[in-house]
Amino acid sequence: MTKLAIHGGSKVRNKLFPGYFVLGEEEAQAAYNVVKSGILSKYLGCWHEDFFGGPQVQAFEKEWGELFESIHCVSVNSNTSGIICALGAIGLGPGDEVIVTGYSMSISASAPLFYGATPVFADVEDDCFCISPKSIESKITPNTKAIIAVDIFGQPSDFDELNRIKKQYNLMIIEDTAQAPYAKFRNKFAGNLGDIGIFSLNYHKHIHTGEGGMIVTDNDDLAMRCRLIRNHAEAVVDGMKYDGDLTNMIGMNLRMPEIEAAIGRSLLKKLPSLINMRLENVQYMEEKLKKIDFLTMPKVREHATHVYYAHPMKFDSAKANNKTRSQFVQAVRAELMPCEKRETEGVLIGEGYVKPLYLQSVYQKKIAFGKANYPFESPLNKNPMNYERGICPITEDLHFNKLISHELMRPGMSKEDLDDVCNAFIKVAENLEQL
Ligand SMILES: *Cc1c(COP(=O)(O)O)cnc(C)c1O
Repeated sequence: MTKLAIHGGSKVRNKLFPGYFVLGEEEAQAAYNVVKSGILSKYLGCWHEDFFGGPQVQAFEKEWGELFESIHCVSVNSNTSGIICALGAIGLGPGDEVIVTGYSMSISASAPLFYGATPVFADVEDDCFCISPKSIESKITPNTKAIIAVDIFGQPSDFDELNRIKKQYNLMIIEDTAQAPYAKFRNKFAGNLGDIGIFSLNYHKHIHTGEGGMIVTDNDDLAMRCRLIRNHAEAVVDGMKYDGDLTNMIGMNLRMPEIEAAIGRSLLKKLPSLINMRLENVQYMEEKLKKIDFLTMPKVREHATHVYYAHPMKFDSAKANNKTRSQFVQAVRAELMPCEKRETEGVLIGEGYVKPLYLQSVYQKKIAFGKANYPFESPLNKNPMNYERGICPITEDLHFNKLISHELMRPGMSKEDLDDVCNAFIKVAENLEQL
């Protein structure tokens, strides 16, 4: 009998998996050249030609637009900054409601708070895990101003339905495409599917510059408003004779430095092949994993492509001799090893994703800014905010019971490495009675 590693048997894998490293000689050279130039950032926070940043920043934005077919690209120092910028650009303010998903990184839901607006949580799709258009429609009120749609795990949200809702209710759509660079829906790149899209270039993403983000939009005014918020708007609007809406024209410093931009330019050239490797790895693994009848491989939406930031699967306990997801995942993890240089993160297979965001203290206790529960209980809010457990049943079921996601399909994994991962899943699946 094969003994599972969790009970002291031998592991399927005894050495570390390769880590995911995208930086090479080219990026080292690009960073070196910037240091030698002596210009690590060239921004000026006033109306001046340097208001738009230095040569690397401007070239990065131009090249990003060429690759992703986006009209305006505005680099920032993170996706977080980009979402805050975008919400400011659309003129969000106190009393507004923004419909968000609870199954994302926290900023995709909390960003409206910075403008005194409140997040309203919609549920997600049971098969693609993106925000559910049907649930959105049930949450729309006369105060709804925007939707933040997250292309979660690497595939675009349902933009056929989202755009219908946008038109019908006159809403803005912010697309958080941190996890889906180069994914497409109906032949358009993710990021370009709503009014404003925001990418992330943090260390965990497909390509990274350490920290960084890119805002894209085809709307001239929104692009300029993002540039203003990025770089001290209030000190710039008079000099440039800005004749638009002054709402939210209080800027910050959300600027990307030159070294990051230079590294980003180099990585843009590698992105398509890095995505292809993910697709090949996922295809290879799914072919092997599909014989496990209690796991459902992720659905790819019709007319969409998936770029697999993660590879999310659904676990069906009833078909797995009523074992729990946790029993299964813990046993699989015991068979495997962490990745090189990321040992502290453990085996990169997780139960669920993030805790449904509305369960965070900020919503449960309704404490954001100041002591008076602002903006949750502002007199400008016409509707009481409900963040109780149970408001998004599918999100909760996925998180607490069904979803398993892993990152062991990233470029750098050889066929043998992928075989080890699949064999661990299969070994545990064939020995469920030991759990
Ligand atoms: C990574 C991520 C963010 C935040 O990106 P930063 O660049 O770290 O601010 C936001 N949303 C989603 C969906 C993400 O995956």
